[in-house]
Amino acid sequence: MIISMRPHATREEIDHVRERIADFGYKVHSIEGEERVVIGVVGVGDVTACLESLEAFPGVERAVRISAPYKFVSKEFKKGRSAIKVNGLEVGGGEFIVMAGPCSVESEKQIMETAEFVAASGARMLRGGAFKPRTSPYDFQGMELEGLKLLRKAGQATGLGIVTEVMSDRDVELIAEYAGCMQVGARNMQNFALLKSLGGCGRPVLLKRGLSSTIKELLMSAEYIVAHGNPDVILCERGIRTFETATRNTFDIAAVPVLRELTHLPVVLDPSHATGKRSLVPPLCRAAVAIGADGLIVEVHPCPEKAVSDGAQSLTFPDFAGMMRDLAPYIRLWKEARALPAAALV
Ligand code: PEP
Ligand code: MN
Repeated sequence: MIISMRPHATREEIDHVRERIADFGYKVHSIEGEERVVIGVVGVGDVTACLESLEAFPGVERAVRISAPYKFVSKEFKKGRSAIKVNGLEVGGGEFIVMAGPCSVESEKQIMETAEFVAASGARMLRGGAFKPRTSPYDFQGMELEGLKLLRKAGQATGLGIVTEVMSDRDVELIAEYAGCMQVGARNMQNFALLKSLGGCGRPVLLKRGLSSTIKELLMSAEYIVAHGNPDVILCERGIRTFETATRNTFDIAAVPVLRELTHLPVVLDPSHATGKRSLVPPLCRAAVAIGADGLIVEVHPCPEKAVSDGAQSLTFPDFAGMMRDLAPYIRLWKEARALPAAALV
């Protein structure tokens, strides 16, 4: 059950509602937004009686029962779509947002050139890892603080917002100083300490689906972030592990319409990590637009054969420019569909 208080409800009204919920034997989980307080109610008891009683309380705008295990992120909580603001853009709004850049920040030259190129080709955000989750402890682990500084410089030079990965709750504050959007990598989707601390980071979060996670688990992880105070979560499908070996992962693009039915949060697709192969990225980007994703996150490198990570799946500059040109008519249709009253197509 979720209780939305009216904007600017008084402290007394809020406390009154909390006390009533406690009387019913439930636990209270409130999110104090700038404008309003939303109170999540969890536990076992007589939901109908509790709802009826609370609806009549002063200061209460809406009390709804939510049957899904994820509450704040569910469609039952919010029927429409959430558009998440990142650096003056909206993910989940009327623009299709392409985020592009190298897997890892490697040098000033590499990130500056890439930022300039992807910006000129139509990308709206720059991606790049400064803290890298690598399978082997002997592989390049990222430029860390130096990488964050370079990302900031590239962002300032091009006007692109920065999305970069945070791997540990210890780094949240530092990365939030540099990034417009905090990326949680697939390997950390269930790092609950990290998810909890992102609740208070003051930045939107791009939450990637775990390598072997279900859609329900993805939504439960998003719920952690929201329940800890941060409603700005963008979901990302990046391929899941299956028996198939022709691609690095299996791209579950069905996740887009499935998530549309279950959540109001925006969804972006990452065909680079999903396929692991450069030639497969452009066709899957077209599919992403057609299926109604809110955007893409794509790896691009000035010289993929020399990349320290994920070279095989990184697009070259000409590949990226060509792909953006080819996507343009699809994105035009996407926008028209988004502008329809019932968002009939996407
Ligand atoms: C990345 O974006 O470079 C990355 C490591 O992605 P994922 O967490 O999806 O593997
Ligand atoms: Mn990568």
